[in-house]
Amino acid sequence: MKTIGVIGGMSWESSTEYYKLINRHAKARLGGHHNARSLMVTVDFATVEANQRAGDWPALGEQMADAARQLERGGADLVILATNTMHRVHEAIEQAIDVPFLHIADPTGSALRAAGITRVGLLGTRYTMEQDFYTGRLHERYGLETLVPDEAGRAQVHRIIYDELCHGEVEDASRAVYQRVIEALAERGAQAVILGCTEITLLIKPEDCALPVFDTTALHAQAAVEWAIDSK
Ligand code: GLU
Repeated sequence: MKTIGVIGGMSWESSTEYYKLINRHAKARLGGHHNARSLMVTVDFATVEANQRAGDWPALGEQMADAARQLERGGADLVILATNTMHRVHEAIEQAIDVPFLHIADPTGSALRAAGITRVGLLGTRYTMEQDFYTGRLHERYGLETLVPDEAGRAQVHRIIYDELCHGEVEDASRAVYQRVIEALAERGAQAVILGCTEITLLIKPEDCALPVFDTTALHAQAAVEWAIDSK
């Protein structure tokens, strides 16, 4: 089995989900006492979040590249970045390392395409919903049309991520907000919804949702394990 390297800490609440999912999936595949071979570098989210607000993506690219190099030096055979938002700087990571990088949008795009979905709602941070780096990849590589909430919905979804979920706070009232936002996306023609922020999995489960759910945390973790087990 190959070793998975995880750039984590954005936030650590979702990194713990990755850790659990990666090991559970390895156990499901291999049985017995098996788990995944892995390394995690945890960055300080306070600096990351401040740089995001300042729009300093070059500094963030350097920070992510440093973490990726650390993982490669530590023996990682594959690097994954445990946040959707920070994929804005995925090229800085890919340029910094020789081992493969598994982009979070790819397992999700493949799963949506396999399910025959063509028009999908996207929930995530403002950066993920409003900038092109994520929706553009889904469109170019997977032919997906992405719908995002209206301005008021985007503000609520973004605020709940940073003010609650990244602090590990899971509130029923916020789940209800997300459910209303998802219903509005369904009314506009979304056939499914992408949980395009790695903390949303803490708040929304498939049974909470009027639409089929594509959870980037689960799909990304699973794809990393498949790669680690299957690649020679
Ligand atoms: N984990 C979140 C994501 O998947 C947001 C935190 C961050 O800004 O990285 O986008």
